[in-house]
Amino acid sequence: MVINFAAGPAKLPEEVLEEVQKELIHYGNSGMSVMEMSHRGAQYLSLHDVAIKTVTELLNIPANYKVLFMQGGGTGLFAAVCMNLMGKTGVADYVVTGSWSSKAAKEAAKYGKVNMVIPKASKFVNIPDQKEWKLDPNASYLYYCDNETVDGVEFNFIPETNGVPLVCDMSSNMLSRPFDIKRFGLIFAGAQKNIGPAGITLVIVREDLLGSPMSITPTVLDFTIMAKDNSVHNTPPTFIIYVVGRVFEWIKRKGGVDAMLKAAITKSQAIYNVINESNDFYTCPVALDCRSRMNIPFRICNGDEAMEKEFLKQAESLGMVQLKGHRSVGGIRASLYNAVTVDNAQTLAKFMLAFYEKHK
Ligand code: PMP
Repeated sequence: MVINFAAGPAKLPEEVLEEVQKELIHYGNSGMSVMEMSHRGAQYLSLHDVAIKTVTELLNIPANYKVLFMQGGGTGLFAAVCMNLMGKTGVADYVVTGSWSSKAAKEAAKYGKVNMVIPKASKFVNIPDQKEWKLDPNASYLYYCDNETVDGVEFNFIPETNGVPLVCDMSSNMLSRPFDIKRFGLIFAGAQKNIGPAGITLVIVREDLLGSPMSITPTVLDFTIMAKDNSVHNTPPTFIIYVVGRVFEWIKRKGGVDAMLKAAITKSQAIYNVINESNDFYTCPVALDCRSRMNIPFRICNGDEAMEKEFLKQAESLGMVQLKGHRSVGGIRASLYNAVTVDNAQTLAKFMLAFYEKHK
């Protein structure tokens, strides 16, 4: 068994994989696999509804919010957000703090006017103070990405919008900490990091934002239709939703999002401590106040590619895999999602320390 530090699709809890394996061919007393069940049958629908109920409990989602399972990934949601919410005024605020919010803003420009709230950055390494943000008073919503998976930039605050609906991409830190849903109009998160296998995007949307999609909105990306039909307007990825439900239950058994937060702090600090105490042998370019607890990008000896290759080779020989940085930033990236254990992170920290001692 390897220790998987992938950025997504990422490690799943072993307990969940074992449960799924046991139930793979015959689910309960149904005599069939979840994969073979009708999406309109009572057996599947009960799994579907339990998944929604469990995440509602985990995040304390109030009754005036709908939980949806959408298709099209995070990228599909970049467009869906615009088509469903931008029509109100034709303008939206985008806070671009990394490559994913940058892609979202680019997509949004197809559907309306995008107001760039902060100056374009040459490198994504910090989050300007909210006092410096230039909001458009006419914006239909303000969009930001809570955790930039590629750049390792994570918000440590919820932006204040004075009543403008707040839309957030939480793909890579969803369910890793508690937060006040009531501050948000809409949150989405692709499943393939903290939620389950790739194939669905979790959407939590405040009901008053439904009902005014642009006329061009494809049915499958229409939040209003999906909310009305409990995300089974068309065939959903039933097996993925079943596994996602099991991941939600695993989080609940482990102590919920509070426990995930506690572990995330311990895990990320183990790695950042080694970086900080390495006399710049390891460097993380991200400002201290917005370093991600989920994705830690770092370079070795100022980006010595031969040294980084050696690091990856040795890590792999010790069973630590998928540590290569995103192709756009290079170097190393350690992703520490919920299923990565404290032990796993400490094993990596120990290896980093030993590698430093040998090569400093
Ligand atoms: N947002 C974030 C924060 C991501 O990390 C990703 C991809 N990993 C996406 C959006 C895009 O997701 P997808 O590949 O499912 O379209």
